[in-house]
Amino acid sequence: MPIATVNPATGETLRTFDPLGAEEIERRLALARTAFEQHRTTDFATRSRLLNRAADLLDADEDRIARVMTTEMGKPIAAARAEAAKCARAMRWYARHAAELLADEHPSAADVQDSGAARVTVRYRPLGVVLAVMPWNFPLWQVVRFAAPALMAGNTGLLKHASNVPGTALYLEDLFRRAGYPEGCFQTLLVGSAAVEGILRDRRVAAATLTGSEPAGRSVAAVAGDEVKHTVLELGGSDPFLVMPSADLDGAAATAVTARVQNNGQSCIAAKRFIVHTDVHDAFCERFTAGMRALVLGDPLDESVQVGPLATEKGRTDLEELVDDALRHGARALCGGGRPTPTTGSAAGGGSGTHGDAHTTLDKGWYYEPTVLTEVDERMRIHREEAFGPVATVYRVPDLPAAIALANDSPFGLSSNVWTRDEDEMALCARDIEAGGVFFNGMTASHPALPFGGVKRSGYGRELSAHGIREFCNITTLWYGPGH
Ligand code: NAP
Repeated sequence: MPIATVNPATGETLRTFDPLGAEEIERRLALARTAFEQHRTTDFATRSRLLNRAADLLDADEDRIARVMTTEMGKPIAAARAEAAKCARAMRWYARHAAELLADEHPSAADVQDSGAARVTVRYRPLGVVLAVMPWNFPLWQVVRFAAPALMAGNTGLLKHASNVPGTALYLEDLFRRAGYPEGCFQTLLVGSAAVEGILRDRRVAAATLTGSEPAGRSVAAVAGDEVKHTVLELGGSDPFLVMPSADLDGAAATAVTARVQNNGQSCIAAKRFIVHTDVHDAFCERFTAGMRALVLGDPLDESVQVGPLATEKGRTDLEELVDDALRHGARALCGGGRPTPTTGSAAGGGSGTHGDAHTTLDKGWYYEPTVLTEVDERMRIHREEAFGPVATVYRVPDLPAAIALANDSPFGLSSNVWTRDEDEMALCARDIEAGGVFFNGMTASHPALPFGGVKRSGYGRELSAHGIREFCNITTLWYGPGH
């Protein structure tokens, strides 16, 4: 895949980049390691000052970087601004909390004595140079949620970003440099995915974190396993969204729309499979489909647009194949089911779709209509595979055990959403749903204070919170003998 900025709203290539050569990669690896030797000895106050400064700069740059993101991967501009603001908040959160999250721990006096020591300290020390392989869908947030805790813990970072977001990748390197981080603390490597193995095998790289697809995760984990290096994997998801009879149906349907189409439907934690109790199935479908139909599709730089194009042409082809396969096997589209046509009613700027710029953009860009599919079954690929775009599948179930069984009938286990007012049903879901999160009467969202990650093929390890910052620490036992 070439390293290039290609506007998904027009298909136009705006800028291309040559990948770094072997010599430059070597120079940057050396720099990352040298920077680590210095950065690891800094105190938390120094690290906090640097990260807070980066947050201030990011706030000041909000409009500029939002435009870069929207131009590179097509998310609606308001969502891009919100992403930048969220990153600044997460930086401040880690700047404020890292010292307490990584404070020395002291086992109980009885356990210390039992271990034969006079005293024992457990200390969180940094691991070293961490390689981050990141995706394009939240091009700022995915990186910041790794970089903020990793840098606060005293590590240094190397970013291999997705090849279609080089502008955002270079912005990030520049941001940390302007914030005052010493050279080498955070570097962007403009390289293709084929270069990842060599970098990861380099002795100066201590660990890796990857957010992306399952094949990419498997490949990086295999190399890391061979090298016995620690990894965190945040991979795909096909999150269930359960709706039970006691639910606030209007709230559930409105949230379902947002949960499915956020980021043009390209979010790992988007709700993708809607599993609805038969008593409320038809009423939910009616409200949900009406909400999906009403979405404004169009140029993501237009403030009124809610759904932009898919980020890449291949992404749209993959989605089309998934929906076509389902329709061929008997699924029914309650709305959408293909590319927008001139009669699409939801194009920005007018119902006829003939509105000047909006229509031109819909023709040229990689748009796909918000789609609701029913009568989906296991013969269809979409039953097991992740639909990375604004396409929902709705299932009818007779009761909660059937809903939970269907929720768990997926290779993925990232997060889940449950709409019910029944405490017993909540308890059952909290016990039985196989996922890294269960969000009741709301939709899954990440927050710096809450652990984020999945089980099964959604990956392993956790980001954010205390768990996220400790992933890249050498948890060291300091044992002092009785003679000490
Ligand atoms: P992707 O193709 O896996 O790309 C992600 C990153 O991995 C890119 O930097 C890519 O580089 C690199 N990569 C791809 N193949 C590789 C390989 N064999 N070895 C090393 N690096 C490799 O994923 P995507 O299609 O961009 O992103 C969508 C996927 O990410 C979805 O499955 C989504 O659910 C998942 N995702 C998960 C989370 C989460 O937190 N769990 C968050 C966001 C997205 P190139 O761009 O150069 O190919």
